[in-house]
Amino acid sequence: MALSQCDQCRSALQPTLMVCPQCGAGQGLDALAGVEPKLSLRSQRRASRLGIYLGTFGVHQFYLGNRARGALYLALCWSLVPTLLGVWEGLRVSRMSPEEFYRRWCLPQQKAANIGG
Ligand SMILES: [Zn+2]
Repeated sequence: MALSQCDQCRSALQPTLMVCPQCGAGQGLDALAGVEPKLSLRSQRRASRLGIYLGTFGVHQFYLGNRARGALYLALCWSLVPTLLGVWEGLRVSRMSPEEFYRRWCLPQQKAANIGG
């Protein structure tokens, strides 16, 4: 029987698994439908774009769940500091591996969803 491949970290999976044991990523849209309605995984590409284009207002920080940091960026949006940090962080997010992104930004979110749900 052929193994399937994780959408995120590309490790080999049993085709019956709905969640990758390596990185915690849900497998396919069908796997997520109806399982955990509140579970919406963050997108690495979106987080990166938000940082680069809207980092001035801390939008990427809000997106990643760092509300306090996002508010700080918003308060300092008149200066160039959040803009520069946003571009820097956006590029850093775009260059990190999917595994790293999942470990940092998606696993805590999933754990919180499980506890809260
Ligand atoms: Zn995986």
